[in-house]
Amino acid sequence: MNIILLGPPGAGKGTQSKGLVERHAMVQLSTGDMLRETRKADTELGRKVADIMDSGGLVSDDIVSAMIDAKLAEMGEGQGAIFDGYPRTAAQAGQLDEILAKHGRALDRVIELEVNEDALVERITGRFSCANCGTLYHDTANPPKVEGVCDACGSTDFKRRPDDNEETVRNRMAEYRAKTAPILPGYEARGIVTRVDGMAGIDEVASAIDRVLA
Ligand code: AMP
Repeated sequence: MNIILLGPPGAGKGTQSKGLVERHAMVQLSTGDMLRETRKADTELGRKVADIMDSGGLVSDDIVSAMIDAKLAEMGEGQGAIFDGYPRTAAQAGQLDEILAKHGRALDRVIELEVNEDALVERITGRFSCANCGTLYHDTANPPKVEGVCDACGSTDFKRRPDDNEETVRNRMAEYRAKTAPILPGYEARGIVTRVDGMAGIDEVASAIDRVLA
């Protein structure tokens, strides 16, 4: 199974990907996570990626597609892939088709998480994660059960993404509208798009996605 989770920043792609990994032993391929690793390095590429991410712009198609290609090469044949935050442009969508074919895979489903954009800024600026294990939280919608302690690993160290501030978020949304939303009609023409209400609770959205994959 190869699926794309599509939706604007804050739609819940990361949270739902992590759920799919647990429930279906699929592999999450998040170009955002890969680029967050890249930017940590004190290299020219790391600095360039950091500047682009902090502005809310998009990193070059060739860089992200090469990352996806490399990750798929490491995966077992039967392992399902969840593309999270990729593709984000028409060029990337074309590159993904080529990369999948090269690895003997085909795209099964595109799940679009439909969300109310006004609610997204609040969703995004309230989110944080465990610095140790990466479990995702939100100040009001999904806080840890015990304040300041990660539910999953007990760590008391948390972090926020530097690009989760209002100005960058607005730019990321504009990029989504201008460059990512236009790739949907192509997938619709192939009859593989399912829309899921991304404003529902995390468990409800997860159930809706499971029904799509069943
Ligand atoms: P995300 O974690 O998916 O919200 O991505 C965070 C940031 O990484 C985005 O705002 C972009 O700057 C960059 N990024 C992630 N995925 C891509 C992609 N597929 N193409 C270009 N830039 C990306």
